[in-house]
Amino acid sequence: MLDLKEKNRIPKIIAVSKTFKIDHILPLIDYGHLDYGENKVQEAVEKWTSIKKQNKKIKLHLIGKLQTNKVKYAVKIFDYIHSLDSEKLAKKIAEEQNKQHLKPKIFIQINLGEESQKSGILKENLSDFYNFSKDLGLNIIGTMCIPPFEKDPSKFFSIMSELNQKNNLSEISMGMSSDYLKAIEFNSTYLRIGSNIFGQRG
Ligand SMILES: *Cc1c(COP(=O)(O)O)cnc(C)c1O
Repeated sequence: MLDLKEKNRIPKIIAVSKTFKIDHILPLIDYGHLDYGENKVQEAVEKWTSIKKQNKKIKLHLIGKLQTNKVKYAVKIFDYIHSLDSEKLAKKIAEEQNKQHLKPKIFIQINLGEESQKSGILKENLSDFYNFSKDLGLNIIGTMCIPPFEKDPSKFFSIMSELNQKNNLSEISMGMSSDYLKAIEFNSTYLRIGSNIFGQRG
């Protein structure tokens, strides 16, 4: 049985606010929620720059694909990057964080279904990729996955949990509106919840 108290790991909830206007998000900010997720750099810059200046405790999470030409802006506004998926991107983030004297917390995205259309590194390459990224000075805190649609996510969540243990990583970013309860059973530490909080996206 799941016993969060015993494990002493209550997962953080990232309120995924992508596509929603700031007016729709403000009640939650006013309520005091601090972690928000966006999947596009440009949208995040437009929506969050001034809010983050007013409320320094807000943490912004990039949960979508990051192109190298956007890294400069991403490092500036995001506190967490969940989508590190290539050596090229790792090098670019390292370069930018040194320039800007910032150090985002980073998750390595794993392509668990080995789906060609999805980003992420293969699980058998995680250990090498993790060492490569650490050597560049990146602050890697864990792994992230988006399991294949229409399959039972338990198998994938379970692999993630094992992978993290094997590599001594403490954080796992997994679980969305449809599967977060399952993700918690497999030790997720960051849930990315959009529609269950803000309603259906238009
Ligand atoms: C949109 C998105 C979410 C949130 O999805 P919901 O089903 O609305 O909870 C989580 N993770 C990623 C990577 C997303 O793009």
